[in-house]
Amino acid sequence: PAETDPEVTLITPTAPVRSSTHGGRAKCLQRLVRLDLPVPKTVALSFDAVRGIAHGRMPDLDALLGAFPAGAVLCVRPSSEDPDWGGPGAVLNVGLNDATHARLSAEIGVAAATQLYSRFVHAYAVEVARLDPDVFSDIEAEDADGLAALLDAYAEEAEEPFPQDPAVQLGAVLRSMARAWEGTTARILRQAKGAPADAGLGLVVQEMALGLGHGECGSGVLQLVSPVTGLPQITGRYLSQSQGREALEKGAASLYLERDARGASLQDLAPDAFAELLSHAERMRRRLRAEMQVEFTIESGRLFILDGVVVKGTARACVRMAVRLAEDGIISRQEALLRVEPRALSELLHRQVDPEAHRDPIGSGVAASPGAASGRIVFTATDAQAMAARNEKCVLVRRETASEDVRGMHASVAVLTERGGMTSHAAVIGRGLGLPCVVGAGRMGFHPRKRLLMAEDGRVFREGDTITVDGTSGAILAGAPAMVEAMLDDSFQTLMTWADEERDIGVRANADTPADATTARNFMAGGIGLCRTEHMFFEPGRLTVMREMIFADGPEDRRAALEQLLPMQRADFIELFRIMTGLPVCIRLFDPPLHEFLPSDRSGMRELAEALGLPVTDVTRRVESMGEYNPMLGMRGVRLGVTVPEIYDMQARAIFEATLEASREDAPVVPEVMIPLVSTPREVELVKTRVDAVAAAVRTERGRDFDYRLGVMVETPRACLLADQVARHAQFLSFGTNDLTQMTYGLSRDDAGRFMSDYVAKGVFAEDPFHVLDEHGVGELLRIGVQRGRAGRDDLTISVCGEHGGNADSIAVCRAAGIDYVSCSPFRVPVARLAAAQLAL
Ligand code: PEP
Ligand code: MG
Repeated sequence: PAETDPEVTLITPTAPVRSSTHGGRAKCLQRLVRLDLPVPKTVALSFDAVRGIAHGRMPDLDALLGAFPAGAVLCVRPSSEDPDWGGPGAVLNVGLNDATHARLSAEIGVAAATQLYSRFVHAYAVEVARLDPDVFSDIEAEDADGLAALLDAYAEEAEEPFPQDPAVQLGAVLRSMARAWEGTTARILRQAKGAPADAGLGLVVQEMALGLGHGECGSGVLQLVSPVTGLPQITGRYLSQSQGREALEKGAASLYLERDARGASLQDLAPDAFAELLSHAERMRRRLRAEMQVEFTIESGRLFILDGVVVKGTARACVRMAVRLAEDGIISRQEALLRVEPRALSELLHRQVDPEAHRDPIGSGVAASPGAASGRIVFTATDAQAMAARNEKCVLVRRETASEDVRGMHASVAVLTERGGMTSHAAVIGRGLGLPCVVGAGRMGFHPRKRLLMAEDGRVFREGDTITVDGTSGAILAGAPAMVEAMLDDSFQTLMTWADEERDIGVRANADTPADATTARNFMAGGIGLCRTEHMFFEPGRLTVMREMIFADGPEDRRAALEQLLPMQRADFIELFRIMTGLPVCIRLFDPPLHEFLPSDRSGMRELAEALGLPVTDVTRRVESMGEYNPMLGMRGVRLGVTVPEIYDMQARAIFEATLEASREDAPVVPEVMIPLVSTPREVELVKTRVDAVAAAVRTERGRDFDYRLGVMVETPRACLLADQVARHAQFLSFGTNDLTQMTYGLSRDDAGRFMSDYVAKGVFAEDPFHVLDEHGVGELLRIGVQRGRAGRDDLTISVCGEHGGNADSIAVCRAAGIDYVSCSPFRVPVARLAAAQLAL
C-alpha cells in the first residue's frame, strides 16, 4: 500500500492517519511510530475501506500483503474512533499454513510452530468460518498428529480444506471483522456507549512478534500507575511463551514486572528488555500526554511495543492521574480539568460498593442520592430511631417519605422508597444529608404492614434482614458487600482549586441545617443559595409547637405559638451565619403546605390530641379539613405568606435579630430573604411591605442598622413570563427549577417516579426532566425569565437553586441563559464547581 493511500495505509510518521478516519488504535500506533519505538510494521484500513469490505469491495490483498515480508505472520485488530465503543476481537497468527509452519518449525521449534498454527486454525474455524465451536473444543493440537486432526476436522466441517493462501485467509478475516461491526447487537452495544449510528470501524494489520520460540519469548502489559489509586506504581503481568493478553488471563502463571518481594519478575528474567520497556513507557506517558497501558512482546530477548491504550481507572485514580500529569508539566491545568468527568467526583465523596465485591441484586429504582450503605430493614421512622438508639445501622424502607420521616431518615444509613423521583421528598432530603437513597423502586414489593419487602425475583426480606442501598447505581443488594471508603485527597483539592480559577459562574449550596452548612463550607461552596427553613421545624420539641401554631384559632393564638418558635429559628440562623461567616446566606421563607406538618395516622392524631388537650375527633376533623386535593398547587409558599402573614413576620424577625447577633464590625451579615412560589408581582409587594416593616422595627428596637436583600423564587411559569415586573420589587431572582419543571410539564414531582423509567426507556423523554433540566421547554422559560428579569432591573442577581444546579448538563443550560450562580446539594458542590470550570474552558 502506498503511504498516501487514505484507505489502506502503511503507518509511517507522515501517513494520513486520523482517529476520525482510521480509529483511535491506528492513530495511537502512528504516534508510537513517530516516537521511534520498536513497533512491528502496521497497515491501517480506514472506516471507508472497512465499510467497503463489509459490502463486498475487498482492497487489493496482494498489495496489502506486499507491505510485509513474504510469509509474515500477521494479526488484525479493531480500531474504532473511541476505544470504548469496542469492536470485534483481534485475530492472531494470520498467514500460518503448511509452508509457514514448516519454516517456523526450523526457526522457533516444532512445538511452538505447531501451537501457532493450531491456534490460528482454531480461531479461524470458530471466529471467521463460523463453524460449530464444540467440534473443535476437544481437539488437543499440540503435536503433528493433533494438528492433522484439527485440519481434518476443519475440512470435514467446512467442506473444503483449510485455506493455504495468506491472501484468502486475510480476506476472510477482514470480511468477518467488518461484518461483525455491522451486526445489530454490536450496534446497540456501542450506541449505548454513546457511539453515533454511523460510527465507523478501522482495522489494523500488524506483523506479529511471535512471543513463542527460543530464548526469552513472551508477552505482557505494563502501566506506570495503579488503576485503583492512580499513584505511581509499575503494574502489569508478563507470561513467557505467550501471545496477546494471555498474561492477564485468570489462572495464568504470569509474572510481575518489577523485582519485589512478591516473587519472580520480568526484571529478573530479562533485565535489559525490562529497562527498555520502562523507558519506552515513560516516553509514551510524556509524549502521548496520558497514562498508558503498554502492550508488549518479547521475541528471543528483543522487545516490541504492539499497542498503547489510555489507562482507565477508578474515579479516584482519574483525578490523581490528571493532576499528576499537570504537575509534571505534561498537560496544562485546563486540560487536567477537562479529563475528569464531573459526575465521577460524586463517587469520591461517598462510600461505594467495592467494584470487586460480589453483588446480589434484589431490585432497582432511581439513583436519587449517591453512595452506598448497608443496614437492617425497618419500615417506620420510629423504628429507625429505636434501632439507631441501639447503635445498629438501619435502612428505612417506605412507600414514600414525608416531613414526619425526616428524623427517621437522620437515624438511618440509607433510604429506599417505592414511589418518587429525583425531586421527591426522600430524594431531596437524602441528598441534603448525604444519605444513599434509591426511590421509585416500584418493581419490588413493599408491604410495610406485614413488615415485608419482596425482591424483584420474589425473594422475601423481613424487618431486621440486612440489605444494601447503592444510591450511585440505583441498585438494591442483599446482604452487606465490601465497601470502599470516600476519599478526599490532595489531588482532589488541587483539582478543585484549579476549577475555581477557571469558572465564571458561582456555586452555592442548598443547606438547611448547621450540618449541611458545615458540609457546604468543607466543599468550598460560595455561600448558601437556598435554606429551606421548614426543615428546621422537625427537630424534636419543635414539631409540637408548630402544630399548636397551625391549630391556633386566630391571629392572637397563632402569635403566641410563633413567639415560642421565634427564639428557636433565631438560634438556627445565628448558627448558620456563624458557620458561613463572610459568605452570603439566602433564607427562603416557609414554603410547604401546612398540613404536611400534621400527623397522618391514628397514633399521631392521638399524640397531638394529648398535646393540645383536645378530643381526638376534633383533631382528626381539623386535620381533614386542612386536606387539599392538590397540595403542591394549593395553600403553600407565598400564598401562606399573604393569607397567614404572621408566619413570615416571625421568620423575618428571627432572621434580622440573628443578623445583628452574628454581625461583627469587620464582617457584617447581609442576609438574603427569599419568597417562594410567586406567580404575580402583587404577592411580592405585599410580603415586601411587611418584611420591610419588621426590619424597621428590629432596627429601632436594637438601635442598630443592618442591610438585607429581598428576592423572589421564580418557580411558576407565570413568574418567568412576568419576571420584569417581579424584578422591580426584588434584588435577586432564584429559579426553583424543581417546581418549574413540575408546573411546565404538569408532572407531579412526587408521583412521576412511577412511570418515569418507562417514559425514558420508550424515548418519550430523553432524560428524567427532574434530573436533567429540559433545555427546550423549562430552559426556554428560564431564558425568558432571565432576559425579562434583567430588563426589569439591571443590577439583578440571578441563580438556579433547583436540584438541576448539581447536574453538569443542566449547569450548561443555566450558564448559557446568563445566570450568576447555581446552588445545589452540598455533596454535589464539587461536581458543579468542576462542571462550571469545564464550561468556561
Ligand atoms: C424548586 O422548586 O426548585 C426549589 C428549589 O424548591 P423546593 O424543591 O423546595 O420546592
Ligand atoms: Mg419549589
